[in-house]
Amino acid sequence: MFGSPGSGKGTQSKFLVEWLKIPQISTGDMLREHIRNGTEVGRAIAGRMRAGSLVSDDLVNQLVYERIHQQDCERGFILDGYPRTPAQAQEMMRLLSGVGAREVVIHLVVDYNVIISRMTGRRVCPVCGTLYNAVSRPPKVEGICDLDGSVLAIREDDREDVVRERLTQYEASTRPLIEYFRKASNRLFEVDASKDRPEVVFGKIQTALTGILDQTSGVLSSSVVGEKAAADGVAAR
Ligand code: AMP
Repeated sequence: MFGSPGSGKGTQSKFLVEWLKIPQISTGDMLREHIRNGTEVGRAIAGRMRAGSLVSDDLVNQLVYERIHQQDCERGFILDGYPRTPAQAQEMMRLLSGVGAREVVIHLVVDYNVIISRMTGRRVCPVCGTLYNAVSRPPKVEGICDLDGSVLAIREDDREDVVRERLTQYEASTRPLIEYFRKASNRLFEVDASKDRPEVVFGKIQTALTGILDQTSGVLSSSVVGEKAAADGVAAR
């Protein structure tokens, strides 16, 4: 799941988890958990995370390697927030072939100004992880999680100065990966995610993926038929 911070990767990944019954692997969540648990890794990365900088390729590559070898990843998995650099992208392709998986890259394309307003209005439930947004997905009661009643929090790296730094990092290191995927993958889908509600964006993703779902098992097949899945707002490459 590819796109800038605030493009809706986390939200769309959660929809995909429900639909495909495969796990979401968010490197950001894994790193935050290390910080919460006060592990050695957590202490090493806390400063960079707080500043909105990327942590080292070797570290995230290792975390992803370990995670995708767990049993619940056998039918596939959704990578959210990884890869973010050319070195990670190359490692991802290597890791996928190591576990006999094929990539499908979904690029959520969102206008820069929309990103800024989304990210600074973003709130998260500290208990269940549900994401809310003052504009596009407000909770029923302001400041309170619909699902478990917890008081919503602002993630430290959603503060405005940190948001700007994260977008700078995205422009410098991550956006160029689109060019890499245009060459390296024939299953890249560009989905316009600027204006529509999250459910509508997810509909576009489903349309794109349905063409490459293995009808018998419901998981993504290894055949290359992505070109057929072009739909409104979705460009298959
Ligand atoms: P996210 O929740 O995906 O926006 O990630 C939050 C922060 O975690 C980023 O600003 C980085 O500091 C770090 N991070 C997450 N994923 C990666 C990655 N693949 N490579 C490097 N740093 C990452």
